[in-house]
Amino acid sequence: MSDSYDQDGCNRGSYDPSNIFAKILAGEIPADVVHEDDRCLAFRDIQPQAPVHVLVIPKLQLAKVGDAQAEHGAMLGHLLLVAGQVARQEGVGDAFRVVINHGADAGQSVFHLHVHVLGGRDLAWPPG
Ligand code: AMP
Repeated sequence: MSDSYDQDGCNRGSYDPSNIFAKILAGEIPADVVHEDDRCLAFRDIQPQAPVHVLVIPKLQLAKVGDAQAEHGAMLGHLLLVAGQVARQEGVGDAFRVVINHGADAGQSVFHLHVHVLGGRDLAWPPG
């Protein structure tokens, strides 16, 4: 694990390569993959919170969305494009939600950036 801190005290670039999504990317543990390209992998959440619950993850090592730098802009945009594509592919293209948890206090439990794509049921607002 490596750490670097900005002047504002933000921890950027901390990444533990032994996290579970890194192992999925490395092919060390299986996943129910619904999409793969050169920049990302999308697979079904093992504990789905909706009839459709897919995670879209980048292939590069980034722990949290707030760690992203300007150079990651195209990759972040690509994750959202794939989220929409996956939603359409899964039959929920008319109503779905995209969620990114940043930090343990916001519910993040796996520290490899991931986009949740949820659909197939009523989604309350505001979210919990
Ligand atoms: P978060 O709480 O935002 O970090 O989301 C992590 C998500 O990863 C949770 O919804 C978990 O159910 C999911 N998850 C954990 N391990 C696996 C796995 N091996 N395969 C698929 N999804 C997983």
